[in-house]
Amino acid sequence: MNHFHYKNGELYVENVPVGRLAGKVGTPFYCYSTATLVRHFEVLRDALAGLDATICYAVKANSNLAVIRTLAELGAGADVVSEGELRRALAAGVPPDRIVFSGVGKSKRELELALDKGILQINVESDAELEELSQLAAGKGRQAAIAIRVNPDVDANTHAKITTGRKENKFGIEWTRAHQVLQQASRLPGIEVTGVAVHIGSQLTELHPFREAFRRVRDLVLMLKADGLAIRRIDLGGGLGVPYDPRNENPPLPGDYADIIRETLGDLGCQLVVEPGRLLVGNAGILVSRVLRVKEGATRTFVVCDAAMNDLVRPAMYDAYHEILPINEALPGTELLPVDVVGPVCESGDTFARQRGLPALARGDLIAFATAGAYGATMASTYNSRLLVPEVMVKESVFAVVRARPTYEDMLALESLPRWMHQPAE
Ligand SMILES: *Cc1c(COP(=O)(O)O)cnc(C)c1O
Repeated sequence: MNHFHYKNGELYVENVPVGRLAGKVGTPFYCYSTATLVRHFEVLRDALAGLDATICYAVKANSNLAVIRTLAELGAGADVVSEGELRRALAAGVPPDRIVFSGVGKSKRELELALDKGILQINVESDAELEELSQLAAGKGRQAAIAIRVNPDVDANTHAKITTGRKENKFGIEWTRAHQVLQQASRLPGIEVTGVAVHIGSQLTELHPFREAFRRVRDLVLMLKADGLAIRRIDLGGGLGVPYDPRNENPPLPGDYADIIRETLGDLGCQLVVEPGRLLVGNAGILVSRVLRVKEGATRTFVVCDAAMNDLVRPAMYDAYHEILPINEALPGTELLPVDVVGPVCESGDTFARQRGLPALARGDLIAFATAGAYGATMASTYNSRLLVPEVMVKESVFAVVRARPTYEDMLALESLPRWMHQPAE
C-alpha cells in the first residue's frame, strides 16, 4: 500500500498534487511519502510483535537524512556499509547502540570509527577482518562486539547482481567454517562474539530461501551453544522484495516472513536484528520527469523524458521494471500506445521501458516512475555531467526539499586545472 494516488484526474502524493511540486522544484526529482514510510515500518514492526527483534534499516536503499530520520523516530536502527552511511545514520539521530556495520571491505578508518562511536555490532566477513579488528580494538583497550556473517550457500532466486548468499559470492564466511571461525574469534583479545549474521540477497520474491538460510543459522547457533559459546544475537539481513509490477508480482507479506522467523529461530532465546531496506522505502518514492519530446523512430515511438539512467539506474543495471504513471490520469477506455520511454543519456541502455502501453504523451507532460524509493537516488551519478536531482519529502499537505539540486558551479567546484596549463579566460 502507498500514498500515491489519483484525485480529480491528477496524481497526488498524500495531499499534494505532483504537478504543484514539479512547478516548485523543477524536473526531474524524487518524491517520498512520509505516510508510506511510516506504514511500511509499522506493518513490519507489527508482524514481528512478540519477537525480541530490532529493525535496523539498511541505509543504502535510501540514505537521505529525512528518510533515515523518519524511520529513526519510529524506533528504527540502521544497517550501514560505509563511513558515509555511518555518519548519515548518526546525523539523522540513530542511537549508536542501534547501528550495525556490514560489508566485505571495511577500511581501518571505518573500523576505528565504528569502535569509537560504540555501535551495536560489526558484522565481520573474513578471518583477516577479524584479526585486524581485534588488534585495533585491543589497541584501544576495548572489545569489539561482532557477529560473524555466514554465507549459507542458499540460492535467493533473484537477479544475479543482488544475490549474495551463494558460496561463489564474495560475502560472508562459508557456513561450514563458521563454527571454527567463531571459536577462534572468541579467543581473540579485542573481540566479543555476540552472534551470527546472514544476508542472502535483495528483492526476494519467495520465502523458501529465507527458511533454508535461517534453518542453517539455527543449526549453527545450536551447535555453538552446545560448545559453550554464548550466542545472544542473530542478524537476519534484509532482502524481502516489493511488487514493482503490481499486476504480475506478488512478493511474500511481512507477516509470512515473520512467521518463518518465528518458526526457525523464535525459540532460541536470542535477540534478533532484521535489516530491511527496499521493503521500507521502495514503494515510498517516485521519480518525476517531464517529457522533452516524442520522437518517431523507424520502427517505434520514443518518449524522451528529462530523467535518465544516471538518475534511476535500475532498469539499465538490473533490467528492472518500473510502473510509469502519467501525472494526468488516463480516462478509462483511453487507447494505450506501445512506446519506448528513454532518457537523454548517450547510451542505448538509457531506456526505462520498451514497448510499454501508455496513453498518448506530448512534450511537457509529466510522468512518474513508481517504486523508485529504494536504490534510486542512492545509485544516482552525474554521468553525462547531469546534476544529481533533488529529493522532496511530503507529509500530508506539506512538503520540503530534503536534498537540493546542486548548481553547475557546485559540480565543477572540486575540479581544477593543473598549473602547467593555460587557464582559460572566464
Ligand atoms: C543491501 C543489504 C540489506 C538490505 O537489502 P534489501 O533488499 O534492501 O532489504 C541488508 N543487509 C545487508 C548486509 C545488505 O547488504
